[in-house]
Amino acid sequence: MEERIAVYIHIPYCLNKCNYCDFYSLKIDEDETRAFTLALLEEIKHNSSNIKAKTLYLGGGTPTSLPTPLLKKIIESARQSFSLPISAELTVEANPETLDEEKLNMLIQVGVNRLSIGVQSFNDDLLRFLGRIHSAEKARSAIRKAKELGFENINIDLLFAIPGQSLDDWRRTLEETLSYEVTHISCYSLTFEKGTRLWKDWQMGKIQPLEEELSAEMFEEAHRMLTSRGFAHYEISNYALPGYECRHNLCYWRGEPYLGLGPYAVSFFPPHRLRNPSLKGYLKGKQAKVEEVVDEEERKKERLMLALRLSEGIEKSMLRENPLVEEMLREGLMEERGRRVRLTLKGMLVYNSIVSNLL
Ligand code: SF4
Repeated sequence: MEERIAVYIHIPYCLNKCNYCDFYSLKIDEDETRAFTLALLEEIKHNSSNIKAKTLYLGGGTPTSLPTPLLKKIIESARQSFSLPISAELTVEANPETLDEEKLNMLIQVGVNRLSIGVQSFNDDLLRFLGRIHSAEKARSAIRKAKELGFENINIDLLFAIPGQSLDDWRRTLEETLSYEVTHISCYSLTFEKGTRLWKDWQMGKIQPLEEELSAEMFEEAHRMLTSRGFAHYEISNYALPGYECRHNLCYWRGEPYLGLGPYAVSFFPPHRLRNPSLKGYLKGKQAKVEEVVDEEERKKERLMLALRLSEGIEKSMLRENPLVEEMLREGLMEERGRRVRLTLKGMLVYNSIVSNLL
């Protein structure tokens, strides 16, 4: 039987650029969205003869910033071209500002069964600091509307370690998120990425990252609050109710092949990692190029790096020769679960240094 893979579609537009964002996203130009959609439909068609999807994920950027008829066309075409099974996970990322009733109804009608809403915080001061275009009230009404119209599987993205955020602020945002009875919650630590407005302000001494100790407390608080309410902490930054883990992202974390469509999207067909051109080249019809050849040794390292993010961990045999593992087990940074090992909460807090030590 033909193997199905995860398919990702990158929509490169946003209404505005957030202060911390280093994703490939551009301010939306309504006049250009038609040409972009045509190019994307062409790319979908071009890849459809040899690929079948097991999950479909539209991310960005902000997919829901596209005009409703264009977004509808893209989803319908991708579903059909990649023969996505009816029960397969179909996610669309959304910004609360762009979720009106018309768009939500269209998403349901074309079979989107997982909505990922970028809320980030329910504190308006923090949202302004981040440069988000939506208010806390807008986020509240978008979540309520989505639920009311029938979305059952909803993820909410949250950010912590925001300068000016207190532990109590964070608790309130988590508490409110839980009150909406969503199925999945992602909690990302804010990072200062080079080239962003946040990074520049930091370099100029206008702002400072939150102290590490407080940020660690926030990470632990999320774990405590969410796991006590039935969520499994199945990946360093991700929590899900049983059965609602993001199947698409699990494909990445398990090191499986995937197809990426849209400007600057990455595909992985071992041993090749390919990247699409940026929007300008994409609109001229330029094709994806091999960015990297991942040899077996490198692939093993990547698999290890990714698997350690997951609570399912990794087969002990994959780490057998590494003397550091025993030390980490003794120090409580790792724990054994049958034939597998995984990071403990303490280990997750120092994930980056564990990975660099192991590799
Ligand atoms: S909405 Fe998301 S992708 Fe768009 S600018 Fe903000 S963080 Fe970046």
